[in-house]
Amino acid sequence: RDAPFCPACGTRTELRHAGWSRHCPRCGREHFPRTDPAVIVLLSSATDPDRILLGANAAWGGGRYSCFAGFAEAGESLEDAVAREILEEAGVRLQDVQYRGSQVWPYPRSLMLGFRARILDDTEVRPDGEEIVEVRWFDREQIGAALRGEDAVQLPGTSSIARRLIEDWYGGAA
Ligand SMILES: [Zn+2]
Repeated sequence: RDAPFCPACGTRTELRHAGWSRHCPRCGREHFPRTDPAVIVLLSSATDPDRILLGANAAWGGGRYSCFAGFAEAGESLEDAVAREILEEAGVRLQDVQYRGSQVWPYPRSLMLGFRARILDDTEVRPDGEEIVEVRWFDREQIGAALRGEDAVQLPGTSSIARRLIEDWYGGAA
């Protein structure tokens, strides 16, 4: 419904493969649904690998914390998107940025790319005050309790890549 016409020649396109793509009968081009890449990052302390930094989003209300995330912009590499988003939301620069896996998030049309990174300097941490209203350090004990539901802190849902990034770190996956 969002894209019924061929962006190259303006002809009405036809559905192919039950909607996985659209085909233009005039110029022959095949068009795939738009997918917006987004990055999500688990941050650990510059000096203490047993501490991670999570953020509380203004839209979530109190008590919920998660990894930092945002959309990659046009013309931006994923590495640049990670650096920019984290600088904007948490005020810090990064080192040891590692890709950890992805999750399709078709609501509406994004692909989440998960990373883990180490903060360059913990003293630079500050929330942006708009999207991220609070940042907070957690140690392994606190995360363990929250994962088991024994703490008032709420972590991301079990089906999310944010949860997987936190569980990976908690479980000590390298
Ligand atoms: Zn066409």
